[in-house]
Amino acid sequence: MITVFRQATPEERKRYYSEEWDREDVPDFIVDSIKKREFGFDHDGLGPRDRYNTFNSIDELADFLKNRSPFAAYCSVSLYEYPKKRENWERAELVFDIDAKDLPVKNCCGEGMVCEVCLNRAKNMVMEIDTNLKQLKLENVYYVYSGRGYHIRILDTDIMEIGEAERGFILDYIRASVPVRDESKTKKGRDPTLYSAGYTGIFRSRFADIIEYAEPEDFKEFGLGTVKAGEIIRNRDAVVEDLRKGRDRAIRKIIKDPRAYKRFEERVTVQISKFLDAKVTVDIKRILRLPSSLHSKVSMKCMVVEDLERFDPLRYAVPEFVDFADFADYQAGKTKTI
Ligand SMILES: [Zn+2]
Repeated sequence: MITVFRQATPEERKRYYSEEWDREDVPDFIVDSIKKREFGFDHDGLGPRDRYNTFNSIDELADFLKNRSPFAAYCSVSLYEYPKKRENWERAELVFDIDAKDLPVKNCCGEGMVCEVCLNRAKNMVMEIDTNLKQLKLENVYYVYSGRGYHIRILDTDIMEIGEAERGFILDYIRASVPVRDESKTKKGRDPTLYSAGYTGIFRSRFADIIEYAEPEDFKEFGLGTVKAGEIIRNRDAVVEDLRKGRDRAIRKIIKDPRAYKRFEERVTVQISKFLDAKVTVDIKRILRLPSSLHSKVSMKCMVVEDLERFDPLRYAVPEFVDFADFADYQAGKTKTI
């Protein structure tokens, strides 16, 4: 395994912002509303502690980035009348965050890490969500590679004006699971949140992803014994294909007992709810990584993705200061994991 994901040095950050960063890579949807947005910066790798910054133009932002070469740069999804004080909130993009390092049943690489496999899974999830958003007739949708996953940013006028509760409803639809409080569990001191399967079609395609990537250990956590887990693994392709077509016949043929199936489905649903970070979607004052900026922790570019299907972050989001020799084998197909 070649370690390419490594932290950028201050010199490399400087080089990136003076030689490679291009104002043209800041999307118009930010440039056009730059005066109304709050910017946040992380100067030392300890988090975006420099908040409440504002810029009157892209030139001002460019000067700041070139002078300071921040560890990370963020910008609000919200527009304010007074962004410097975060006062008089006007509207906010609706955002979904898919982080490859936090995908459920992730067995490809270590905790907090990303590799070709989980980055690809995250991208497939974004493409699925894209289909769901089209069903909702949302049109002004942008995709951003965040450095370790993807942001989906929606700027349809009506949507930008909705509050946190309505954002929660759309989130439930997109992640195909609805949190329901189970009061009987509260008394026993257990987590009272149950996730109902809801929205069958979307639920089954997420279900397929969980089955596709689960290991025997995961199936055990879903309440299955070794025999049933083994049967699913042996028939994995057929089960996954069936679920992707919106059917659950193949999986029910394996788990015949309705009570066992219900328990299994409940546990899978909790995993499905983890595909998206709920906090990011419902928070209307969030700051998100600025497209065009450097994700210094992993030395990757945060960038708008035009052609999702053809986008490969390991080809397009690698800054010039990263030694490209490390990628030569990957590009030649000699290594599977980077
Ligand atoms: Zn991985």
